[in-house]
Amino acid sequence: MEKTTEQPARRFDVMSIFVGTGLVAALVVPWYGLTYGYDTLLWALFIIFMFWNGLSITAGYHRLWAHKSYQAHFIVRLVFALGGALALQNSIKVWCSNHRNHHRYVDDELRDPYAPVKGLWFSHIGWMLRDYDASKLTEANITDLTADPLVAFQHKYYWLLAFTLNVLAPLGLGALAGDAIGGLLLLGFLRLVICHHTTFFINSLAHYWGDQPYSDENSARDNAYVAWLTYGEGYHNFHHTFQWDYRNGLRWYQFDPTKWLIGSLSLLRLTYALKRVAPEKIEASIVQMQLKQATTRILKFRDLNADEMLSRLDQEYDKLLVTLNAWASCRHEWLELKKANMTHKWQHNEVRLKLRQLEASLELQRFRWQMFTQQFA
Ligand SMILES: [Zn+2]
Ligand SMILES: [Zn+2]
Repeated sequence: MEKTTEQPARRFDVMSIFVGTGLVAALVVPWYGLTYGYDTLLWALFIIFMFWNGLSITAGYHRLWAHKSYQAHFIVRLVFALGGALALQNSIKVWCSNHRNHHRYVDDELRDPYAPVKGLWFSHIGWMLRDYDASKLTEANITDLTADPLVAFQHKYYWLLAFTLNVLAPLGLGALAGDAIGGLLLLGFLRLVICHHTTFFINSLAHYWGDQPYSDENSARDNAYVAWLTYGEGYHNFHHTFQWDYRNGLRWYQFDPTKWLIGSLSLLRLTYALKRVAPEKIEASIVQMQLKQATTRILKFRDLNADEMLSRLDQEYDKLLVTLNAWASCRHEWLELKKANMTHKWQHNEVRLKLRQLEASLELQRFRWQMFTQQFA
């Protein structure tokens, strides 16, 4: 008997949205522009809509609701909830349920909704084109969200909000700018298609292309180019390793406008309780990855006196870890003293001096480690 693989039913409604909006953005938008032109005001509104849409997903759906990496004032949550309906990526409830399953079962072919192991196309868009079980709403993993009236409201009126924001608002704003059709084409179609695919890159490209400096236990990668396309979400290896940190781009020079937005709003007290992973934990995971990579390379070229090299590598690793832990506990002590308002100034100065000394020895130890591991690069 011939063996057949049963595939879930096709989602023609979803397909028509992607194909329809894609064709309008690729053909009608440039034709209209060449024939009638778009007003500068419409381009300015287009940029505002792009950021509203993109950041509502990254700062709102992703870092606020799915991961709870910070808290936000009602006004901020309202703006993100509306921006999420504008983004046409399903309600907060469905999006977060899928995303939490993605982190929990990452790379599991059956349970990870976007499963990168099933190919670039599947993780980018294919997972939405059929009625897969993995992408169905799991109420059990979002019980903390269902109690939020704003989340419940957005879920209940999702399609009404989505239609109003994607069609009526662009038409209305376009009319105010003197070109309703131009408004619909730029703020509606073009913005939606660009934002769809740039967000989808986080599930596709960010699991295929880039480095794994923090962990290789799953396929997530850090990639600066993808970060530029995804409002900072391209530092996906860091994110999958430390998912509740409000930052994805850890360093100041890494492009992460989502982190900058959350940080700036905290200065206005519109966001608060921003979560950060302790620096020693981050550094320990980097060093552990470097140890893993150097060990693999030493074993690959056994003729290089492997046993001696491995033992020296372990020694350097242990020394670095001891210094890192000493620095971390001293830093903790210093932060506690600062919190207690430095009642004993002499004690404060003593701890500060010890911290400086440990910082210097950590720097030296890091340098030794880099020099040692780089020879196997
Ligand atoms: Zn995530
Ligand atoms: Zn991911």
